[in-house]
Amino acid sequence: MHILLMGPPGAGKGTQAANLVKEFAIPHISTGDIFRAAVKEGTELGKQAKACMDAGKLVPDEVTIGIVKERLAKPDCAKGFILDGFPRTVDQADALEKILADLQIKLTSVLNINVPAADLIARAVGRRICKKCGATYHVRFNPSQKDGICDTCGGVLYQRADDSEATMTSRLSVYDAQTKPLVDYYKKAGLYVEVDGRQAIDKVFADVVQCLKD
Ligand SMILES: [Zn+2]
Repeated sequence: MHILLMGPPGAGKGTQAANLVKEFAIPHISTGDIFRAAVKEGTELGKQAKACMDAGKLVPDEVTIGIVKERLAKPDCAKGFILDGFPRTVDQADALEKILADLQIKLTSVLNINVPAADLIARAVGRRICKKCGATYHVRFNPSQKDGICDTCGGVLYQRADDSEATMTSRLSVYDAQTKPLVDYYKKAGLYVEVDGRQAIDKVFADVVQCLKD
């Protein structure tokens, strides 16, 4: 089960990845995590990545690709993996094909947890978080009993700066522009499947499993 996981920010990709890890006993490989791990372990590529990040530069593709390759070659990936956050461009998708060919791995599916931008913005804009215990509410979908007060601990609820309409709109337009060519790329390859991420978490996961089995 070799899966590429895609989905816009706020679509619940992390939750579904955690469910997949449990269901199929394969590792969830997020590029953010493997970058941090490579830097921490001080591998040659990790050192190069760190030098770029410290200098405020983008990590060049050959370093990113090298780090992904090292990770996918590890023994725990033999039965499968959920790769998340890579590739981000068609060039990287081409590079991934070469990596997988070298490792004699074939992708099972490219899975997109899709949620329309309007829904993601509504989710984010209404989200409220308890300052004291971190509980999450939503003014429309999951309101607290008393306005602005946490049901569990009585703490004050606040809105994160990132949850504004302007921030979400710009993040989502960047994501869309980046992702569209990849969606086309994997549709052409016959690997692309899409699940409606607007549904309840359990239903999304049921659809995910169904898609992967088909
Ligand atoms: Zn609370």
